[in-house]
Amino acid sequence: MTSQSKPVKLAIIGCGIAANELHWPALRTLRDKFEITVVCNNTEEKAVEFAAKAGGVPYVLHHKDLLQRDDVEAVDIVLPVHLNYEVTRDCLQAGKHVMVEKPIAATREEVRAMLALDREYPLAKIVGENFYYHPAFLRAKEHLNAGRIGKPYAAFWDVFRRLDRDNRYVQTSWRVDHKYPGGFIMDGGIHNIAALRLLFGEITSGQAFTQSVNPEIGSMDSFSLQFATAAGVDGVLNIFNSSVGFARNELVILGSAATMRIASTQQITITSKDKVELNETITNNSYVAEFEDFYRAIRTGATPFSSFPRACRDFEILVNAFDGAERKAPI
Ligand code: NAP
Repeated sequence: MTSQSKPVKLAIIGCGIAANELHWPALRTLRDKFEITVVCNNTEEKAVEFAAKAGGVPYVLHHKDLLQRDDVEAVDIVLPVHLNYEVTRDCLQAGKHVMVEKPIAATREEVRAMLALDREYPLAKIVGENFYYHPAFLRAKEHLNAGRIGKPYAAFWDVFRRLDRDNRYVQTSWRVDHKYPGGFIMDGGIHNIAALRLLFGEITSGQAFTQSVNPEIGSMDSFSLQFATAAGVDGVLNIFNSSVGFARNELVILGSAATMRIASTQQITITSKDKVELNETITNNSYVAEFEDFYRAIRTGATPFSSFPRACRDFEILVNAFDGAERKAPI
């Protein structure tokens, strides 16, 4: 086995929900590409638990304690968002390839600094925006490109759900007392922005309104953005996290010949005037796919699809929308 085909020695930084439930199941299927060599969590119990799960690897309590290790080529940063910039910077400075979870950073200033890091360090850098790799949206894009709904001209994405104290994401205090704009709208909405950009190209203009209905989950839980895209598809993205007794996650794309619906990011239906043309259920393997792209970037030097600049733009669109909503002005 050449060094180019060997598994990448990977450190996991942050052993919380996403590391355990999203990244670990993907990494287990990619043992030929990644070997977890050390894990890091500031509270020891979670570090011990993850280290045991990963095969009894060593653990550290501070990310700086893994920067000089030869058994770490790359890091997977799965931390509270306000730590993303600092930890990414330290890891790149130490010569480690970086995967960092979405959103890429917590402020506009940090986003600019992330772009500077991207230019400065010729290492693999990817943001864990799994919607860029989600087969439901990749398949929908194939259908659009194949003309299966004719010319798409409008899109409406409704996300109605109830987030309250029982929700485990609400139980992560950094999400409620958030140090980044938009609270749960940023946390979840950045996925929707990524998928819309994947499907229709750049979001070119828009106007948003925001509300905070339930202060228990932090400021801003309700958001509506009317947008226009480079592909000439106009639409509305609605994200309402404090909806009572009503839940829906459906993206509807209107075309000149048919309508495509993507329900709960897994069921694609295309309906023409008289009949259902297509109905397919999609299995989500997006976390595996994003790690595969990270591996390719490390071993070949290719730029991953979910690059730092792409993720920075997702962040910027949402923050511009929040600012516009406050000023009651278009973005
Ligand atoms: P979480 O459960 O709070 O996990 C964060 C972990 O980091 C916790 O175990 C926390 O330990 C640890 N930590 C906090 N400060 C630390 C430090 N200074 N050094 C080392 N470890 C530290 O949050 P999460 O839900 O996993 O979210 C983590 C990231 O994943 C976020 O960026 C989030 O946006 C992203 N995420 C992405 C998806 C997706 O679908 N792509 C889904 C969920 C989350 P303690 O709690 O013990 O302090």
